[in-house]
Amino acid sequence: MRGASATDIVYYCKHCKSFLGTIDSTKTSAESLGFSVLTSEELADIMEFDAVYQTTYVKTICEYCETALRQHPELLLTPTPLQ
Ligand SMILES: [Zn+2]
Repeated sequence: MRGASATDIVYYCKHCKSFLGTIDSTKTSAESLGFSVLTSEELADIMEFDAVYQTTYVKTICEYCETALRQHPELLLTPTPLQ
């Protein structure tokens, strides 16, 4: 196997799509990531598995967008295209 391993979890910002980091899921657990508090529906909403790259992507929000949305909450009303 080469490249990204199947155990990688990749975080990116759902608003600006910036890359926030990766986590080796073999060294952490759903509990420590806070995923255990989410319902399976919420998890399905933020997590996306790429079968080609064998990688799990987690949609989150970066500091920049968090600050921007706090200052301009109307941005949340902007419709985003379905993926
Ligand atoms: Zn962002």
